[in-house]
Amino acid sequence: SNFTLTMIKPDAVSKGLTGSILKDITDAGFSIIALKLTSLTLTDAQRFYSIHQGKPFYEDLIQFMTSGPIVAAVLKKENAVESFRKLIGSTNPDQAEEGTLRKKYAESTQRNAVHGSDSDENATIEAHFHFADREIF
Ligand code: ATP
Repeated sequence: SNFTLTMIKPDAVSKGLTGSILKDITDAGFSIIALKLTSLTLTDAQRFYSIHQGKPFYEDLIQFMTSGPIVAAVLKKENAVESFRKLIGSTNPDQAEEGTLRKKYAESTQRNAVHGSDSDENATIEAHFHFADREIF
């Protein structure tokens, strides 16, 4: 796919890292084609992370993702899903490569600063989860 969906998570937004992270993303060659400061309701978060229901970290993840504002964006680049997963780095920042967003900005495996869609199918679902067609350029 030539687009992916990212969320700057509550840990990073509350620390004022939104501008730095968006700059790193555009410096890496992604164009921002949709963008908003928003938040997830409990229902939103349960729906977004339904694949993780029942896992040991699920309840805390839902609590964390609904704890404050997030920034949602649709990013455009050739091979966007894979390319962006590379830019964000491993889920656990201790295992993330130097220069990745999680290496630079994440606090922990849970509070790991950014989300990126993990497949083309999910990029489409997640972009429409956050944005109407008229908000995506
Ligand atoms: P994302 O889907 O947010 O891009 P990911 O694909 O790297 O991250 P997933 O395995 O899909 O990671 O997990 C979704 C999110 O759940 C993680 O980004 C993290 O915030 C949280 N999470 C995952 N595994 C753990 C864990 N072992 N302990 C605490 N939180 C976790």
